[in-house]
Amino acid sequence: MNPEAAGRSRRKLTIRSVYQCLYESKEGCTKAELAQKLGLSLPTIYQCIAELMGKGLICYAGELQSTGGRRPQCLQVVADARVAVGISLMEDRIRMVVTDLYLKELHYRNLRHNLQLQSDELAAFLAESLEQFLHDSGTDRKKLLGIGIAIPGVISPDRKRLLLAPTLGLRNLNLDSLTQRISYPVFWENDGTCSGKAEMFVRGGQANMAYLSLEDGVGGAVLISGKPYPGEQLRSGEFGHMCVEPAGLPCACGRRGCLEAYCSARRFQNTLGVSLEDFFKGLRRHVPEYENLWYDLLRHLAIGVNNIRMVLDCDVVLGGYLSEYLEPYLPQLQAYAAANNTFESNADYLRMSVLRRHTVPLGAALYFIQEFLNNSEI
Ligand SMILES: [Zn+2]
Repeated sequence: MNPEAAGRSRRKLTIRSVYQCLYESKEGCTKAELAQKLGLSLPTIYQCIAELMGKGLICYAGELQSTGGRRPQCLQVVADARVAVGISLMEDRIRMVVTDLYLKELHYRNLRHNLQLQSDELAAFLAESLEQFLHDSGTDRKKLLGIGIAIPGVISPDRKRLLLAPTLGLRNLNLDSLTQRISYPVFWENDGTCSGKAEMFVRGGQANMAYLSLEDGVGGAVLISGKPYPGEQLRSGEFGHMCVEPAGLPCACGRRGCLEAYCSARRFQNTLGVSLEDFFKGLRRHVPEYENLWYDLLRHLAIGVNNIRMVLDCDVVLGGYLSEYLEPYLPQLQAYAAANNTFESNADYLRMSVLRRHTVPLGAALYFIQEFLNNSEI
């Protein structure tokens, strides 16, 4: 690298370090604090700030209506200087969010569909719904970093194909064909992985975590040292298809006794023909049939949770929309899990997720936020 190019590259790194420092600082920073924290001279700080302000990426806290307790002379990141969209693609609906750089949900939409996932119609529906959503939410396309799309299935390592999605009844779906009408950068990710990443992000860097997502499908993510462990085939955290009851209930994957067969949010509909809301109303009235099913679900969930704990020896966090109903039953679930465990007399490692709503689409959007913060040219 010639000296001029090396100088430019160094300058970019310095600007990024100033931006990241402001991003991570909850209180905001003055110029002097930035210089001190980063070990840079004040003239260098002035230059970086001028450039970042010129791009609209940072501002003085005093320039905003709500300074959130920050000192007016403090500099801070403009949270919505860039935005990302996350989409959760499901069998019968799509959920979409627009988020700012702190993963704060700015807009949300839930749309039903009855289209085949392999179809051209779905590709058109996705692109049109997205454009309508961006329009209705007043999202500035120039600020849009990209569209993360989450899908409940195993994605090929090159992210071009959906290899297997038992809950959708799909194999070998070409993902590019689904997004060819979308004119923004697109990134596909497994839904459980998205949720785990979002949960880790809002927790602010808990070191190790197994995230167990309970939705129509059951999946999750393994996060080690704050980062997802994807596995060699991008199949890590597929907790839903570990066996918790040999020759047990049939699973959508074609096998028997999988955790998903016992703990899917669909089980109430499939077994009793009732919605999730009605099931929990009945459970609170102690309908015996409902109680039998619920405690069977909890016992199998406890087997799965204990197995995860045995393998990974870290916190197990319960998320997904079924978990919204689980909190009152957590002590019972912990008691079941502890009873299965050889080494521990309690299951305090089992926790509820912090992020309860729209976790999957938020996690899908997160990919582009992290790319912007860590890898893009700021
Ligand atoms: Zn299965």
